[in-house]
Amino acid sequence: MNIVLLGAPGAGKGTQAKFLVDTYHIPHISTGDIFRAALAEGTPLGLEAKKYMEAGELVPDQLVIDLMNERLAKADVAPGFILDGFPRTAAQAVALDEVLAQSDRAIDVALSIEVDPEVIVKRLSARRTCAGCGRITTAEEGESCQACGGKLEQRVDDNEATIRNRLSVYAQQTEPLIDYYQGKGVLVSIDGDRSVEDVWADVKAASEK
Ligand code: AMP
Repeated sequence: MNIVLLGAPGAGKGTQAKFLVDTYHIPHISTGDIFRAALAEGTPLGLEAKKYMEAGELVPDQLVIDLMNERLAKADVAPGFILDGFPRTAAQAVALDEVLAQSDRAIDVALSIEVDPEVIVKRLSARRTCAGCGRITTAEEGESCQACGGKLEQRVDDNEATIRNRLSVYAQQTEPLIDYYQGKGVLVSIDGDRSVEDVWADVKAASEK
């Protein structure tokens, strides 16, 4: 099962990806998580990506494509994978198809989780991530994670100006991929402005088709 999760930042891709991992036991590959980890470790990749991430701009295609070609060559993705935050441009989508075709693979389903941009601005401004267990929650939970006691942190790019820029980059560069996957007959659109459980019911049903 090779799944692509499409949807604006804050649409709930990461949350739904975790449910998919628990169900299918296949790797969740988030380019944003890879860049944040590289940045935390201070690697050349992280330092290169930093300026784009902090401004809410996309990291250059070739950097992302090289990174993902390497990742998708690893043995753990043979049973399938969940891509979250990649591809984000037409060039990335084409490169993805090309690298998969080399090993007779293809995307089985592209799930587009759709949420109104103003709802996203509110959601992302309140989003917090636990530094301990990685759980995603909201500012309403306070300073510490209810699950593990870890510190709840806000991403540097979750401030209103950067959120709005990320949404406009999404509309211009990533939204056209909805048509791309529609044309391939693998697109499923899902209303993401509902409870996590309701969205999951549709995501699960679409992934079982
Ligand atoms: P995310 O966690 O998916 O919202 O990604 C955070 C940031 O990482 C984005 O705003 C971009 O700067 C960068 N990024 C993540 N994935 C990609 C990608 N596929 N192409 C270009 N930049 C990316």
